[in-house]
Amino acid sequence: PAQILSGKEVADRILADVAKEVDSLARSGCRPFLAVVRVGDDPASVAYVRGKRKDAARVGILSEEHTFPEETGQEDVCALIDRLNREEGVHGILVQLPLPPHIDEEAIIERIAPEKDVDGFHPVNVGRMVLGQETFLPCTPHGILMMLRHAGVEVRGRHVVVVGRSNIVGKPLANLLLQKREGGNATVTVCHTATPDIGSFTRQADIVVVAAGRPGVLTADMVREGAVVIDVGINRVEDPSSPRGYRLIGDVAFEEVARKASLITPVPGGVGLVTRAMLLWNTVRAARLAQERRGG
Ligand code: NAD
Repeated sequence: PAQILSGKEVADRILADVAKEVDSLARSGCRPFLAVVRVGDDPASVAYVRGKRKDAARVGILSEEHTFPEETGQEDVCALIDRLNREEGVHGILVQLPLPPHIDEEAIIERIAPEKDVDGFHPVNVGRMVLGQETFLPCTPHGILMMLRHAGVEVRGRHVVVVGRSNIVGKPLANLLLQKREGGNATVTVCHTATPDIGSFTRQADIVVVAAGRPGVLTADMVREGAVVIDVGINRVEDPSSPRGYRLIGDVAFEEVARKASLITPVPGGVGLVTRAMLLWNTVRAARLAQERRGG
């Protein structure tokens, strides 16, 4: 049976490093500050933002939340971002996605100053990442690399199959894994909705990462004995026995796959926790870079 790769353990370690960096910045008079923008009242977004701010407080990062009603127009959100871009004391700006359908998400992301884009979604930062330049890496793929490193999983020369090609997980992860640098050098295959017979690919993988948003999409017959399995999916399923009326499950048929894999991440308690930690990592880095630009 597989060993469980705990996200909490990895996240705690990263947060301890972040807290140290916050202290060091504080001694030179800089307090890392994250501004979070949220539009509407999607319950998952509310919960995510609450979690992010709680984590920030825990490591000494200041945060503020700007909330707009659902029907807010594009211009109002842009005006706030322009203001946050100008404010010297704001180091990171995060716009919680998804935005309501009448708002142009791409335009909003492009409005954020790249040096404050702690999600790493701005086209400039995505471009820099693809070119292998220093930049803010997107939190989920970066977190996955940290988990693999923490577990001592060498990706160099191994075959990694990524299921999912979104801009926030699958695409950037595949890109980071194939880069010619530490934590990279993998042979990468990306499967998606147009891939016939995903199992024929995942069965060849040393490492499988599933980010499809479909519960049970990876079953035991689709993995090789001893494979490493990273489950990115977060799916709400109804559960009358839970106090909230639902519970969270991943994309992997956990019980059966865990019997065959050598290492597997749980949901909850896996990639999600590390993703949250990477946001704060990016935020202190943004603060440090801002301080350096000011010559501090
Ligand atoms: P998305 O819906 O934008 O993309 C899903 C991708 O999976 C698509 O590219 C699609 O082609 C592919 N896909 C969908 N069904 C498939 C199938 N049956 N077979 C093969 N490919 C399929 O989703 P996303 O934003 O990348 O998120 C994916 C999942 O990860 C969601 O459950 C989301 O909640 C979760 N997520 C978790 C974290 C975290 O921190 N753990 C972060 C982001 C997203």
